[in-house]
Amino acid sequence: MNSLNCPGCQHPLSPSEAFDHCKVCVPDYSVFSVFCPQCGENSELKVEGGYLLIGVPDGFPEPCFTELGRVEAPTVSVNWNKFSAVVRCGEREWTFGVTDFYRNVHSLD
Ligand SMILES: [Zn+2]
Repeated sequence: MNSLNCPGCQHPLSPSEAFDHCKVCVPDYSVFSVFCPQCGENSELKVEGGYLLIGVPDGFPEPCFTELGRVEAPTVSVNWNKFSAVVRCGEREWTFGVTDFYRNVHSLD
């Protein structure tokens, strides 16, 4: 598979479209939570070794990422911080924060 498709409706997403529809990041697992603009399905993005991966969170027994597709994305880079991430893709740049729950859980780390 050489494109990112929504796991719910197969809507195709380019890397920048995918990040346009991300809401939050999860620094613990290096993933981004993305909502499909077509059907609203929640899936996850991960940047790994020059690829952008789309997958679903598999919560048992430990949270993990199940890959469903990937696309070459050599221009995508991520800088992770404790409670945020900055993504760059060509000329575009996005900054994502974490959920309130995540912040509360990790505030005493
Ligand atoms: Zn969809």
